[in-house]
Formats: sequence, C-alpha cells, structure tokens
Amino acid sequence: MTFDDLGLRPETLHALADLGYQTPTPIQEKAIPMVLMGRDVLGVAQTGTGKTAGFTLPMIDILAEGRGRARMPRSLILEPTRELAAQVAESFDRYGKYHRLTKALLIGGESVKDQQTVLQRGVDVLIATPGRLLDLFERGQILLADTKLLVIDEADRMLDMGFMPDVERIVNLLPPLRQTLFFSATMAPEIRKLGNKFLHNPKEISV
Ligand code: AMP
Repeated sequence: MTFDDLGLRPETLHALADLGYQTPTPIQEKAIPMVLMGRDVLGVAQTGTGKTAGFTLPMIDILAEGRGRARMPRSLILEPTRELAAQVAESFDRYGKYHRLTKALLIGGESVKDQQTVLQRGVDVLIATPGRLLDLFERGQILLADTKLLVIDEADRMLDMGFMPDVERIVNLLPPLRQTLFFSATMAPEIRKLGNKFLHNPKEISV
C-alpha cells in the first residue's frame, strides 16, 4: 500500500513526498481511511508507530476547506505534556505546508496574552494541554461550539497524570455531534471505559 491509496488530498501527498515518506505505517494504513470517512476511532498505538501522522494527515484534509472563526477552534487535540503538544504542532506544520490552516498551541509556560491574540485571529487546529485550555475557557477566550473534531492523545498518560477529570470537563463542553479520536499506548479496562464514554460507535484499531 502507498499513501496514494488512502484517499488523501494531493497537497497532503505532496508534503509527504517532500519528507520522503513512501509507505504508510500500519496505524496510518488503518486509521487514515476511517478518519476520512468520519468515523470515531479507538486506537491502541505507542509513540514511534507513526500515530501522530495517523491522525494529523486526515485532520488536515478534513479541515482543508473552511476557516476557524475568532475564538472558535474547529478542532482540538489534547496532549498530556507541553513537549508532546509542541511535537504535534510541528507535525501540522510539516504535513500541512501546502494548506493554509491556522493552528494555536496552548501550553503552560507561554504568555496567556499571546495565546489570546492567536485565538482571536481564528484557529483551525488547537493543540493544548487540558489545564491551560480550561484556564483560557474560563477567561472567556475560547468558545467550543464549532469544535467538531476532537483528539484525545496518550489517554493512558492523561490518566496516570490525573488529567482525566479535566479532559472529561472539556469533552462535556464540546458539541455532542462531533468526531472523536482516542489514542492510548495500552487498553486497560479503565481506559476502555473512558474511551467508550467519549466515543460513538468507534472503529477499534490496534497495532
Ligand atoms: P510518530 O509515532 O507519529 O510520532 O512518528 C514517529 C516518527 O516516524 C516521526 O519522526 C515521523 O516523522 C516518522 N514517520 C511517521 N510516519 C512515517 C512514514 N509513513 N514514513 C516514514 N517516516 C514516518
């Protein structure tokens, strides 16, 4: 299988060709068509498997048309740490270089004022750690009514770090009619239970 078989847009394929990616990894092969079809996904995959591209590439294609309105992000990716969030933001830049998507990175340790300015300009992809997102939400700087594509990444680490109550609060602020992608390195019963709470008829993918 090649990337051409997965149904991605030509601009996205062009970016992959520039990076020298030739073959999709197993998680990419399984996840990309499902995400493009609009399905919810429960993915069991570790870092290093190509998981990030597995959700980033189809998100770019879904978001390619349309624009985020001021303070109303069209998609949200929750990450447990600043480092992971920054890596995902970098992936968006690399894979989305032939699209004009706007993104914002909301992580602790960065100026809230700068983040407010970016949000005000309109954002297609918001990449955040749960605490900082809730902080800005409570200040009235983010509205989540347009956020119809959600990724909960590294769910096992979110749980270990005690972030799940915040994640749950955030999920409850999103429109119920949305697409949700949920990834975890392991699928302990507790994680699966959470996944089922957040997902609607998910396609389960394991690599
Ligand atoms: P990830 O698990 O998504 O963080 O990806 C791990 C590393 O593999 C990253 O450095 C990616 O740039 C790289 N990568 C992801 N997918 C592919 C692919 N299909 N071909 C070559 N490299 C890839």
